[in-house]
Amino acid sequence: MIECRTPHFSSRPAGTVIKRIILHCDTSPNEQATINWFANADARASYHVLVGRDGRLYRFVPDLKMAWHAKGHNANSLGLAFSNRNNKQERLTSVQIAVAKGVIQRWLRGFPAITTITTHHDVDPKRKSDPYGAPNFELVTFKELLGQYA
Ligand SMILES: [Zn+2]
Repeated sequence: MIECRTPHFSSRPAGTVIKRIILHCDTSPNEQATINWFANADARASYHVLVGRDGRLYRFVPDLKMAWHAKGHNANSLGLAFSNRNNKQERLTSVQIAVAKGVIQRWLRGFPAITTITTHHDVDPKRKSDPYGAPNFELVTFKELLGQYA
């Protein structure tokens, strides 16, 4: 886990229960571009974690804080992004998928009220296509993790 700094997060509203995981692609050509962007004062965006193409895991925001990854959906969610161009060509790497599943399993153990694993597109379909721009992204394979902790 590589800890990265970003000023772009806040406290969750009082009494918020974490219930959802929202998956993204960062639409970036490389991990460093995202790291640099989230450190930029203009970004106003962050994920809890970013999974690099080589499986390296970058953490930007503590789980209990609110990352700014899905407008209108941040309060009760955790945000995980794959580093991927989301251009309908670049595939997720197998190590990326495996590392993401490990993060999700850890979240499901730590936050037993999580009942939903969804995507940025599914919560904001008019504006966002990620992470479906990765041709081998299959939401069902991540949703399968939910049953293991029910
Ligand atoms: Zn997104």
